[in-house]
Amino acid sequence: MEKIGFIGLGIMGKPMARHLLQAGYPLFILSSSAGAASLKEEGASILETTEAMAKQADIIITMLPDSPEVESMVMGKGNLLQAMRPGSMFIDMSTISPATSMHLFEQFREKGIEALDAPVSGGQTGAEAATLSIMAGGTEPAFKRALPVFEKMGKNIVHIGKQGAGQTAKACNQIVVGMTIQAVAEALTLAKKSGVDIAKVRAALLGGFAQSKILDLHGQRIIDRNFKPGFKIKLHRKDMRIALQAGQDLAVPLPGSAVVAAQMDAMLAAGNGDLDHSALALYLESVSGL
Ligand code: NAD
Repeated sequence: MEKIGFIGLGIMGKPMARHLLQAGYPLFILSSSAGAASLKEEGASILETTEAMAKQADIIITMLPDSPEVESMVMGKGNLLQAMRPGSMFIDMSTISPATSMHLFEQFREKGIEALDAPVSGGQTGAEAATLSIMAGGTEPAFKRALPVFEKMGKNIVHIGKQGAGQTAKACNQIVVGMTIQAVAEALTLAKKSGVDIAKVRAALLGGFAQSKILDLHGQRIIDRNFKPGFKIKLHRKDMRIALQAGQDLAVPLPGSAVVAAQMDAMLAAGNGDLDHSALALYLESVSGL
C-alpha cells in the first residue's frame, strides 16, 4: 500500500486521516498538527518536518483552511515542492481557489510529481462516516492512482476534469449550500416570528418539495440552537469569495451568492465567524427583532 502523509488534522482532516489508518495505509502526520497525539495512539507515525514526510510518503494529502496555507505548505515554509520525490503525488483536498490549484499543478508537473485538486462535500458527518463526495481535478492516471485512497474517505467520487476542475465544482457546491442555508434560515425565522412550532414546520417540509439535507441537518441545528462547528462561517465566507471571484472573472452574475456573502460578513463583524454556518439564522433572527 502507498505510504500517506496527511497535513491538516482539523474537523475534516482528522476523521479522513483516521479512515486511511483504519484501512491499513501507513500514515505519517506532523507533530505540530493539533490532534496528532490521538492518531499516534491509533498507529500513525509522527514526524517533525515536512521534509521528513516528503522522504517517507508516496502520497501527501493536505486539508488546510485556504489557498495561502496550501501555497505556504507547497512553496513557502513547508517546501513540499522541493522536498517531494519525482513519482510521488500531492493531493490537496482543502477548498481553495481553482487558480491556485492550477498554479500548484504546473509547479509539481515540472518536478515530475503528480498533483490533484480533490475538495470534498458532506461536512463533518460525511468525513466521520467516510461518505464524502469527492470532486477531483487532474489527469486520468493521477485520478486512477488516487481512487483507492479516495474510496476509503468517500462514496461519491467524481473525476470532474483537468487541474482546477475539482475546485470549480466545489465552488458550485458552496453556492448551493450557502443559498440553501439562507432559504432554510429565512423560512424558520418567518415561522418562529409567526409563533408557529418550527420543529413541526421542518418535519412537514421534509416530506415535500422543500426537502434537503440542509433542511434536515441544519434545520435541526437551528431548532436545537446547536451552532458548534461543523463548518465555520468564516470558511464558508472564504468559499463564497472563491465563487464570487470566479463569477467576476467569467462575467457570470451571482446575485444570490452576493447576498449570502454579505450576511456572512455581518456574522464575521459580530465576532461569530467560528460558529457553524447554520448560525446564519441568528443574523436573520436579530434583524427580525427576535
Ligand atoms: P479546521 O479549521 O477545523 O481545520 C484546519 C486545520 O488546518 C487545523 O487543524 C489547523 O490547525 C490546520 N492549519 C491551519 N493553518 C495551518 C498551517 N499553515 N499549517 C499547518 N496546519 C495548519 O477546518 P476544516 O473544517 O477541517 O476545513 C478544512 C478544509 O476543508 C477547508 O478548506 C474547508 O473549507 C474544507 N471543508 C470543510 C468542511 C466542513 O464541514 N468543516 C466541509 C468540506 C470542506
